[in-house]
Formats: sequence, structure tokens, C-alpha cells
Amino acid sequence: MLIREVEIDGQAPLDVRLQEGRVQEIARSLEPGTGESVFPARGGVLLPGLHDHHIHLMALAARRTSLPCGPPEVRDSAALARQLEQARPDPRSGWIRGVGYHDSVAGPLDRWTLDAWVPEHRLRIQHRSGALWILNSAGLEALGIDAADCVLPPGAQRDARGLPDGRLLRCDDWLRAQSTEQEPPDLRPVGQQLAAFGVTGVTDATPHNGAEELSMLSRASQEGALPQRLCVMGRRDLPCSGNPRVERGALKLWISEHELPDLRDLLREIEGAHEADRPVAIHCVTRSELVLAASALATAGGHPRDRIEHAAITPPDLMEQLARIPVTVVTQPNFLWERGDRYAREVDPGDLPWLYRCRGFEEAGVSLAGGTDAPFGNPDPWRAMQAAVERCSEGGLCLGGEERLRPEEALALFTRPLEDPGAAPRRVEPGAPADLCLLDRPWTRARDSLEADCVAATFCDGKLVWRAR
Ligand SMILES: [Zn+2]
Repeated sequence: MLIREVEIDGQAPLDVRLQEGRVQEIARSLEPGTGESVFPARGGVLLPGLHDHHIHLMALAARRTSLPCGPPEVRDSAALARQLEQARPDPRSGWIRGVGYHDSVAGPLDRWTLDAWVPEHRLRIQHRSGALWILNSAGLEALGIDAADCVLPPGAQRDARGLPDGRLLRCDDWLRAQSTEQEPPDLRPVGQQLAAFGVTGVTDATPHNGAEELSMLSRASQEGALPQRLCVMGRRDLPCSGNPRVERGALKLWISEHELPDLRDLLREIEGAHEADRPVAIHCVTRSELVLAASALATAGGHPRDRIEHAAITPPDLMEQLARIPVTVVTQPNFLWERGDRYAREVDPGDLPWLYRCRGFEEAGVSLAGGTDAPFGNPDPWRAMQAAVERCSEGGLCLGGEERLRPEEALALFTRPLEDPGAAPRRVEPGAPADLCLLDRPWTRARDSLEADCVAATFCDGKLVWRAR
């Protein structure tokens, strides 16, 4: 494959030859060999393919057949009622599956509120945090947990009368075991959607990933449904895949301020992973979660590829602590755009300047990479990059203007190596893997407004996997 007339690192026009999955040659002018296909780039910039360093592929696939139950599609209880009353169960699973719920829509939900909207069909709605499912009575009955004398899984709650109230907190493993999902979700549309954004690699950050999820993802990779390179985080017992395009990633540790783990237990987990030469990735969205994670990592001694996911609130004292340990923060600037208006109302005003920081990490010398957290965030990494540049909410509020990045720095959040997001951004150079994103314009024009519409073509492993019409 020969890509004609591209711009690379400000130099143009250049021709680029891809061979056997690598960038083989870059020169002012290259002649196509016999049978070699030629792709005209017409002066567009050729970038390293984007890497989304924090995403949830299965949930993103499942979302495509789910009902949106929260902002922006559904903003109040009347809209939610309409959405649910029209919904029909998925014929394969027998369930109506709602996602993205937030209490700003209709307050905290329980089985009784859901029964008023959907009395007959089985219904389950996931809270936007991903931690909570709410089921109606028909759903609870189908799972055998609707009555006062039922044995409930840990995390399932009861109301004042002792009846299961339909709220299942962190019961995902149990729900999966009851096979409420239509397995396996079709990953092909997800692979195509990401390819259209110029994404050539993703890290799946799902905490419960184990052998089964790994083999599903690996199969999707082999079949070409997921053309992207994959790094899969997950449980302690997550095996290696044997597929060169699917790498085992960090041990994912999900801590929550509502039940913070004992520091010694957390240390044991971290040290166990490090002994097996495996990094850890700790989920931290609150100040106290970050305090615990930082002190655990400092005590355990770092693995060079340890990560903190989100670091949603990082005040100066914690920034100093993070700067002293070898850790990479993986942030989601897209949340500033998507959730910024609500953050402005709900986050402690004292914490607002420390919300999803960018510049502050760069200045403190803490490595920073980006991910969208889709489906909990929008999967378009260009939106995340533009949000890192502007730091504006959808409603036009500015959040932490001092934390703005230049477009080049925002791009770098998504071009670092998959397996080591703290390392320098990749470059388009001879010998590099041919995972590439071609834009329809030179960088000097693209940088003014970072958007997915600029993507002209995406190459994974040297093959054209997507092109704009
Ligand atoms: Zn996540």
C-alpha cells in the first residue's frame, strides 16, 4: 500500500509505503510497485493511529441495543416514562435493558417506580456510574429475588419492610451468572465506529475481565470484527491471550469511597501483581480514593507502568504525592464537556479547580494519557481532545481554564503506546507499526477544531480499515 502526498511532522508532500504491517519507507516521491494499491492523501496529515487508553468494549457493544435512560437523550421523568412505555424486550434475552440513568432525571429509582412504567416485561436499568442496576418486579421475579424470604446476592438492597427494592449495587458478576445478557454482544459495529474515529488501539479497562472475556475479544480480533490492537485489563486470574494483537494489561483495582478497602489488603493486591511483573490500574474518582491509592502505590513501590484511572479530583497536595511515584494518570477530558454543567452544580466549589486536570499533571511531571471511558463517556476521542483544549461544558461553562492544553498536547494524550501510556507519543517513521490515522487536511488547519469529521482514512496493521466517503 502506497499513501501518496501526506504531511508528516510538518513536512509535505511525502509518500509513505506500508508493508507487512509496518511503515516501510517515507520519501518525497515513491513509485508504486506492481499490484501495489495507492491511496491519495491530497496533503492531509498522517498521524499515528489514536489509542483510547480507557474504554469498555463489551458494554459499548451492549449499549447499541440498549435504551438510553439518562442525559442527554432523557432529561426528566416524563421523557423517561415515554421511553420505557414504548420499549419492547429484546427477543433473545427477554429483557428491556436501559443504560445511562442519572438521579437528576427522576430521583433514585427502585422496583416500585419502575413497575409503574413497565409492569409486565422484565426491565433492568443501569446507573451511569456503572455500579448500580435497578430492576422492576418482573425482573426480580425472573431472577428469583423478588420476595422477602429470598436469599439476595451481596449488594442487593431491601426496603424498610424487608422486601428486595430492586437496587443491585455492584452485582455485575452475579447478574452475568444469571445470564441476563445476550451473549456475546456483536463487537463489529464497535470496531467500525472506532475505526471511523481513527482509533487503531484500545485498552479495555473493565475490572471483571477474565478468561472468557479475553477469548471473546481475541476471537473478535482474529475475525477482524475488532481491527484495533487491544490491551485488556482485568482480574488477577486474567490469562495472556497468545494473540499478538491482544495483550494482557494491568490488574484493575476498583476502589470506592463508600467502602474503602483496608490499606493492607490493597497493598497485598498491588504487591502480588508486581511480583508477577504486572502493573496495576486503580480507579479513583474522589479525593479519598486518590489518597488511598497514592499512599498504597508509594508504600508498595512502583511498577513503571502502574496507572491511576480518572484521578477526577487532584488537589495540589495529592499532585505532589503523585509526582513522587512512577505512575501514569489516564484522564477523560470529555467528561468536562458531557458532565461539566452538572459538576459545576454538584462538585464542592473548593474542588472545582482540581477537576479532570491536564496542564497541572504536565507541570508536575506526572505522565498523562487519555481515554473516553465509553460507553460511560462518548467514544469519540476527538471530542475529548477538543475538551482538553477548550475545557468547556456543553452548556458553555469554562472549568479550570488554567488546565487547558495546546491541540498538539491534547493529541498526544491519545497517541502514546498502548502498553505504556506514560511513554512518549508514537511517531510515523520507518519501522513503526502501520497503525495510522489520515486526516483530510494539514495539521495547521486541523488543530483549530479537533473533530472526527477530519478523519479521511484509518489503517490498522497496514490495512485500510475505514475511509470517508
Ligand atoms: Zn471505566
